[in-house]
Amino acid sequence: MKITAMETIPVSVPLRTFMGGSYYTGVHNLEYVLVRLATDAGLTGLGEAGSMGPWGETQRMAMATLGELRPAIVGADPFEIERVHERMAALVKDHPISKSAVDMALHDIVGKAAGVPVHMLLGGRYRRSMPIHCSIGIKDVKAAIEEAESYLAIGVRHLKVKVGRDPKRDIEVVKQVRGLIAKDALLMVDANQGYQTVHSALDTIWKMEAYGPLLIEQPIAGTDLDGLADIRRRIQSPVMADEALWTPEDCLRIVEKRAADAVQVYLQKSAGFNRAQKCVHIAEAAGVIAVIGGMTDLGIASAAELHISAAMRNVRPDIIAAGISGPGIIADDVTTVPFKIKDGCVDVPEGPGLGVELDEAKVKKYRVDI
Ligand SMILES: [Mg+2]
Repeated sequence: MKITAMETIPVSVPLRTFMGGSYYTGVHNLEYVLVRLATDAGLTGLGEAGSMGPWGETQRMAMATLGELRPAIVGADPFEIERVHERMAALVKDHPISKSAVDMALHDIVGKAAGVPVHMLLGGRYRRSMPIHCSIGIKDVKAAIEEAESYLAIGVRHLKVKVGRDPKRDIEVVKQVRGLIAKDALLMVDANQGYQTVHSALDTIWKMEAYGPLLIEQPIAGTDLDGLADIRRRIQSPVMADEALWTPEDCLRIVEKRAADAVQVYLQKSAGFNRAQKCVHIAEAAGVIAVIGGMTDLGIASAAELHISAAMRNVRPDIIAAGISGPGIIADDVTTVPFKIKDGCVDVPEGPGLGVELDEAKVKKYRVDI
């Protein structure tokens, strides 16, 4: 089989509410690039690149990067996924978010050709549904609680509170949200590296822990693994590394330093399924849980995250965290069948490939000129 064409479609899709974390300001829409690969066998593959400037790839950059990568993709055999990555790496260093969109589309084609859902290509089915979470952006206490309530109203059970700018506000929001959600629901507290020192992080986390249980995500700079290990030893709550991890090599350093109880692994930071699986395996070998994270994605990337979560035992959503965030936060989607949120969970797609299709009318509606 040969890939005969690659289409890249920039879209901008509204969110239910504005979103913001310690290093990004409130946004009402998120921008994405959809990738559609055509083959000479008549099969097509879908991929999606989210855009995140602080992670190094905006929508315009993804459009340009995918253009540069085109010679590595068009003409390739979609079954030779690692070779396509080798060819992409020879053209463009880094840019894993753009490359992950290509990787998703290749897996979509291979799954469709084999007649199996993508999780069957990744080790087989371990679970059929996954809990999702919604992130509450940095805003005043009243607005944060209203946002939390709006997510509970649509069936979301697990919440992530973004913190890291104002400890007093952070502690109050954690206290109130913990009181709002079910006792067995997960509450993740994500500072996105916002606390400036180990001491200031500890001072705030100790106060938050009075209202636990919690998961503390990336309280300090991702580059400071010794500091993260120090925090982990001095608090009760489990610690999750996020910004500290981009590559399997990063994962190895985190587990060697015993800096985290969990690592958040993204298909987008990993340039796709293969490197993400390497991170999950390294973590598992060290007794560390690997949570599959989301970037508030549309249906294509959320489906991809559901497939890898379905296949990997070590994701363990039952005990530590729910990483996927798109289905509860986006106000609309570009795929034909929206995910149904039931009891805090969404089902893993069971159709061949990623198991999702584009809704052409929605694609037209949200397409942007850049
Ligand atoms: Mg995070």
